[in-house]
Amino acid sequence: MTGANDDTICAVSTGTGGAIAVIRVSGQRALEACNHILNLPLGDAGGRFYYRNVVECDDSTVDDVVAAVFRAPHSYTGEDTVEISCHGSRYIQQKILKLLTDRNVRLASAGEFTMRALLNGRLDLAQAEAVADVIAAESCSSHALAVNQMRGGFSHELQILREELVRLASLLELELDFGEEDVEFADRAGLQSLITNIRTKIDRLSRSFAVGNALKNGVAVAIVGSPNVGKSTLLNALVGDDRAMVSDIAGTTRDTLEERVDIDGVIFRFVDTAGLRNTEDRLEQMGIDRARAALERADVVLIVVDARASEEDIAVLYDSVTVSGEQRVCILVNKIDIEGGPFVAGDRGLTHLGRPSAPAPERLFISALRGDGLDDLREWLVAGVDIQGVRNGDTVVSNARHHEALTHTSAALTRAEAGLRDSTPPDLLAQDIREALYHLGLITGEITTDTLLQEIFSHFCIGK
Ligand code: GDP
Repeated sequence: MTGANDDTICAVSTGTGGAIAVIRVSGQRALEACNHILNLPLGDAGGRFYYRNVVECDDSTVDDVVAAVFRAPHSYTGEDTVEISCHGSRYIQQKILKLLTDRNVRLASAGEFTMRALLNGRLDLAQAEAVADVIAAESCSSHALAVNQMRGGFSHELQILREELVRLASLLELELDFGEEDVEFADRAGLQSLITNIRTKIDRLSRSFAVGNALKNGVAVAIVGSPNVGKSTLLNALVGDDRAMVSDIAGTTRDTLEERVDIDGVIFRFVDTAGLRNTEDRLEQMGIDRARAALERADVVLIVVDARASEEDIAVLYDSVTVSGEQRVCILVNKIDIEGGPFVAGDRGLTHLGRPSAPAPERLFISALRGDGLDDLREWLVAGVDIQGVRNGDTVVSNARHHEALTHTSAALTRAEAGLRDSTPPDLLAQDIREALYHLGLITGEITTDTLLQEIFSHFCIGK
């Protein structure tokens, strides 16, 4: 990304449809270009707002605007920046962009303002990525995660670990310089415990990805069961809207239907699936195949059964649903409102469903139609997501790229630990530690490539 700072760029930074739009102009010629399209020049001082008119060459007014001036380096990009707040009309926005591009200001590409902020040292790569997450955050917890990362919480934690590793690598490399003399500057037991300590911290961060990813992308919940047990009714009750078609004709839901619901600040992605049964109908079979695929991808599986179903029926269904050990499973006994159902209070205990060695799946009793038991279900769902760490402000990794880099870092450190135990020569140990440093550096951008930056920023919106 060389030369990115040479020219001045502009873009609309706000979404469509608002009363006011903001056009951002950043670069060495930001003030000069804006002065050309305004009725009066802007002041030189940064951190000021100016009420102006945007005018065409024939002096006709395009719009009344407020222009905010930020002088380098005290701006988002670290460059001279003007933010023009104009009225939200698409025509006005396009007109102002046209006037600016006529003054040789270039239209910014996706994420280019943030990339300039990165190149000018205003934030590191992990913080820049968090900017996109803050914009995309749709729940309290994903917002908290992104804000912590944007403010540099994660970067700071990594920086400390990096510094310790750099120190270790230098000690080992010092030994290499004195190779002939067979000296050990670094006491091996001390080194071992330092590396283990660092790797433990890296592994904690890496493990937090399970929660971070769920919070960022939503917890996937598959609603499965036989036809007509009330899966669609349950989805509608959770969403609070008639999204899925409900009928007592078996096989109504043929495709999977996904709805996002915010429960206590966590997004759950409920997937209503086609009822599981043997069928000759090809279309229905395709739906059932998709149901099974949704089931495999899910973090949580809700197996819905009819309150009148026998224990044997439930056990057969449970067995037909291959559930991985990683998934949380709950059996939802639905339609408890139906008179004469077999359930009495004493029946509502947990059973192992023919798998005595496995923990008994949770069982909740609901009426999707009347809403009974749904609060318990919501509580059970939220209890499975460890949001305490996020609420405490702990660093939780939510970016798959960071998770991958942490995994590689941990692997390199594990090799170094094994090497220390086996009295591996210092040059090989130093190499493992350098490799760990390399992967850590990829997260915050100490190590970076044009391709990586392009890939990351291409997912940003224009104007950010
Ligand atoms: P699905 O095929 O599993 O998605 O089942 P539906 O949601 O389409 O429901 C099938 C039938 O059961 C419909 O007539 C629903 O109104 C009815 N139903 C669903 N949940 C309940 C419930 O809690 N109580 C009663 N009495 N009927 C229900």
